[in-house]
Amino acid sequence: MEIVMKFYIIGGSCAIEDENYITIAQGVKDGGGNYLRGGLFKPRSSPKRWHGIGIYGLEILKEAKRVTGLPVVSEAMNAHQIEILYDYVDMFQVGSRNMTASEFLKEIGKQDKPILLKRGFGSTIEEFVMAADFIMESGNTNVVLCERGIRTFETYTRNTFDINCIPAVKELTNLPIIADPSHGTGKASLVEAVSLAAVAAGANGLIIEVHNHPEKAMTDGMQSVTPDIFTNIVNKANKIRGLI
Ligand code: PEP
Ligand code: MN
Repeated sequence: MEIVMKFYIIGGSCAIEDENYITIAQGVKDGGGNYLRGGLFKPRSSPKRWHGIGIYGLEILKEAKRVTGLPVVSEAMNAHQIEILYDYVDMFQVGSRNMTASEFLKEIGKQDKPILLKRGFGSTIEEFVMAADFIMESGNTNVVLCERGIRTFETYTRNTFDINCIPAVKELTNLPIIADPSHGTGKASLVEAVSLAAVAAGANGLIIEVHNHPEKAMTDGMQSVTPDIFTNIVNKANKIRGLI
């Protein structure tokens, strides 16, 4: 029997900022998304920056789920955040900065919800796959990998999206792998092309940052696309899926 693997179309703002998230979530749903993304706890490069809405976003997340009927994925960075998010999320995100935190991977592997594991920006493909092994060793085999770009000498883009990673992960594991062209490029103008390349390379889904006012976004506005562009990407991605 052929196993039909789900194709993830995850969209939403980088962070849940306020009630406007519900409008964004509706745009994702209308555009063909089947999963919402939105961080309450944001890993940041500077301690002086905004670190997310935290627990005040829980009710907004709940309302967005109720209005759209879509499941949600959100990042936890420690055991306490896992506990806070548990009743509100359908999937936990392990961020790029935490992929190498093996004790945290063991901890999150005890959860009975799927895990979206993002590739460390300085990690090799083999290290990425081993990080998934840490989670699975704790009992949770429901792991979805996510290529989100790696740090290279290139500065035009925020990261370098490693297309190789997609077929390589398929060679090394049976786990699904999705693409994050938003962090992979850091530029909204490049998100469509990299999304389509990833789908053509066999990705099992996309996670895209969507905001109705990218210029006002509190985090990652430069790489966020509007709901209209998201819709267009989803339509084209579905056409490519039809071809391959
Ligand atoms: C995010 O998804 O907003 C995020 C912070 O991703 P990463 O961990 O890949 O940087
Ligand atoms: Mn982001």
